[in-house]
Amino acid sequence: MPITIVNVGYRSTNYWVVSAGTSRLLVDLGFPGSMGEMRANLRRAGVPLEEIRYALATHYHIDHAGLAQELKHAGVPLLVIDLQLPAIPLMKRWTKPHDRFVDITLDDNVVISAAESRARLAAIGIAGDIVPTPGHSDDSV
Ligand SMILES: [Zn+2]
Repeated sequence: MPITIVNVGYRSTNYWVVSAGTSRLLVDLGFPGSMGEMRANLRRAGVPLEEIRYALATHYHIDHAGLAQELKHAGVPLLVIDLQLPAIPLMKRWTKPHDRFVDITLDDNVVISAAESRARLAAIGIAGDIVPTPGHSDDSV
């Protein structure tokens, strides 16, 4: 199955839908409080939310993981690489009440190691690895 990649970003930030047919991975997860914009851009790109098998944040800064919990509420499982776990609780430090950030719960995510990512992605039809790329932040993948 060929892989397609579509940008559904907004506010100068890229959010990517990686698809194998209708099996999809959303890479980077929007600003806090922007679920309406994300939904609109997914609709415009012809991507039903129900077809997104996992949401993956490349790192836990608010412009890349701001909608993680709201996407979970909408039925999209959050795929977390274990090395990202310490960064998640730190996110709310960088948010203010008017951001409408919904804090990310830790007990209901799909947590795997980077080494396990190839098999996990293969199971949804996507050939690839999730690799640690520390630099911008310790939790970047
Ligand atoms: Zn960042």
